[in-house]
Amino acid sequence: YQVLYCTGTGCSSGGSGPVIEALGAEIKKQSLQDKIRIFKTGCFGFCKMGPVLLVHPGQIFYCLVHEKDVGELVERHFKEGKTVARLLYKEPGKDDVYTQMKEIPFFHAQKRIALRNCGLINPEDIEEYIANDGYFALYDVLHHKTPEQVIDVIRQSGLRGRGGGGFPSGQKWTFTAQAEGSPKYVVCNADEGDPGAFMDRSILEGDPHSVLEAMTIAGYSIGGSRGIIYVRAEYPIAIKRLELAIEQARQAGLLGSNILASDFSFDIELRLGAGAFVCGEETALLKSAMGERGEPRPRPPFPAVCGFRNKPTLLNNVETYANVPIILRQGWEWYSKLGTEKSKGTKVFSIAGKINNTGLIEVPMGTTLQTIIYDIGGGIPGGKKLKAVQTGGPSGGVIPAQLLNTPIDYESLAQVGSMMGSGGLIVMDETDCMVDIAKFYLEFSQEESCGKCTPCRVGTKRMLEIMERITRGQGEMEDLAELEELARDIKDAALCGLGQTAPNPVLSTLRYFRDEYIAHVRDKT
Ligand code: SF4
Repeated sequence: YQVLYCTGTGCSSGGSGPVIEALGAEIKKQSLQDKIRIFKTGCFGFCKMGPVLLVHPGQIFYCLVHEKDVGELVERHFKEGKTVARLLYKEPGKDDVYTQMKEIPFFHAQKRIALRNCGLINPEDIEEYIANDGYFALYDVLHHKTPEQVIDVIRQSGLRGRGGGGFPSGQKWTFTAQAEGSPKYVVCNADEGDPGAFMDRSILEGDPHSVLEAMTIAGYSIGGSRGIIYVRAEYPIAIKRLELAIEQARQAGLLGSNILASDFSFDIELRLGAGAFVCGEETALLKSAMGERGEPRPRPPFPAVCGFRNKPTLLNNVETYANVPIILRQGWEWYSKLGTEKSKGTKVFSIAGKINNTGLIEVPMGTTLQTIIYDIGGGIPGGKKLKAVQTGGPSGGVIPAQLLNTPIDYESLAQVGSMMGSGGLIVMDETDCMVDIAKFYLEFSQEESCGKCTPCRVGTKRMLEIMERITRGQGEMEDLAELEELARDIKDAALCGLGQTAPNPVLSTLRYFRDEYIAHVRDKT
């Protein structure tokens, strides 16, 4: 038997460590080492059900496993060859019990490309990555492709930046390749800061080599010799695995001088961020990575021309990079067939809030919210009604239940007043007050404002004061018009994306849930 267990943050904090220790001890006690082997992996995505174990043969999916279950698991599954029914997945509110992972509705509508190795390989073993075609794209690129050909594949694939902006990646790579200046840098933005978002963390914890391989390919394509991963210090497991992966790649000749016997040299180092939300903004990130105060600066010049140490710098986020090796292996034609006309490929989302199946999912662009919330997410707990979904975190907006058929892609989300953002998706039910939700996000943005420009520093404070008045039952009808006016001014005049998007949650709740604001004002609640 092979037992795979998740060592991501979700399952680890749920107690997967003691479960595996107990399982290992039981196997030893019963001298079953020849019969059962345990493998660690990254996140399967079904965080709500953690700790999870996947047992082969049969792809048997056990969930919510505790130390006390280990004895029964060994006796019944590994000695008698039968499943332990009470540890199998059962749909909330239904009688259906699922034995195999592939049968579980949570996994059905998913297509795992960026997450292809998460939950499959041991992220601490480079050989497992290589055994799953890892570093083959890099070999092919270094020996059989020119930098222009590589960039052309990325451009034709239609890949767009997954950090929120959705800028075409091929174009960004072209600009950096064409920029004058040396050395050139490749930077990975792993400063994931939206409340409820953990896509990048899970990729780094589950498949760090995919990011290293992509950055090295990017370095070859733009003529860069050095890579920097800017990662939040609050991600200790991701940092540990990245450090290990970098070391293993160096020893295997996949980083450093003359990579894979070519004349290309490239190396990667980590820079730890202290958790300021504004450092996710590219110019602030670069300043922070250089050891300066993490404050945005006006663009242009863009980092492609003037970035790290004022040199041309290619900056993409974790998920964008994770797509690169597989696009080069499978071809741009394959990738560009996935998704919608303008939003190609898949998108990873972390789903949280009032939803049965919280966790990490990856779906083709264009999948509807209905599919995500009901087919994958299992609906709303306690039979309650869905009220709205927040996409894009504090920069995004709410999408009301009546727009559940909205396809998830860059254009459709913008049309309904929200945005893709990096992929945090928070679900609200009928008991949630949308004014409180908007106030929560505004509070977050206000606190994270770096204070450099007045519209954001002062404007968001004024908006927050009004929101506090309204939720204290001291609001007036004129406050709603003032909120909208302030929001418009901040969006127009703020220096960076944080300020320009900070009013979005208030604007979108005013658009779809104005009656709740009016109820607060009229009823003085
Ligand atoms: Fe700083 Fe806000 Fe201005 Fe951005 S918009 S530079 S976060 S004050």
